[in-house]
Amino acid sequence: MKYRTALALMLFGIATSVMLESAFAGKGKGNNNPTPVTILTQQEADGLLFMREEEKLARDVYITLYAEWGNRVFDTISQAEQKHMDSMLGLLNTYGLADPVLEFGYFADQDLQALFDSLVTTGLQSQLDALMVGALIEEVDIEDIVDAMDRTDKTDILNVYGRLLAGSENHLNAFVRNIESITGETYVAQWISQEEVDEILGR
Ligand code: MN
Ligand code: MN
Repeated sequence: MKYRTALALMLFGIATSVMLESAFAGKGKGNNNPTPVTILTQQEADGLLFMREEEKLARDVYITLYAEWGNRVFDTISQAEQKHMDSMLGLLNTYGLADPVLEFGYFADQDLQALFDSLVTTGLQSQLDALMVGALIEEVDIEDIVDAMDRTDKTDILNVYGRLLAGSENHLNAFVRNIESITGETYVAQWISQEEVDEILGR
């Protein structure tokens, strides 16, 4: 009787470990689920969600300012921001995060909503104000992207952030050239340090 109990327990143990193995197999390679289960830290997840909307803020502001002023710099850069939004959506899909994006001009993040409203109000005052808004957005983006890069070590995320950062540096360059051609004066940094801006501008 004792022997039979031990045997039964042993068989039960084998059955249990087989069941556990197959349960874990569902999370690894060689199964029907195409999405790898990779755990993001809360900071990484928050960073991806915020960046998806921050790129949308840039896109929506530039589309609005292009409609008002007709300066092609806004049209060109808004299309780059759409690509950045698409890249961020790719990461949200990879990591199974729900897309926070709302309709044009609306934001789930209330800080971004307030920023959008205030930037559009300023940017509609004059073409120079609009270009200064563009440069400010890019300076803020650069700081936020660098911060987000400091909070992840995942290669796919760092690659996308790296492309966004390179884009923002190009955009800052383009806005500054436009601003300086109107004012005839050297651009003064609005958000990050003058040293950082000068370095980005190659000065
Ligand atoms: Mn961008
Ligand atoms: Mn940009």
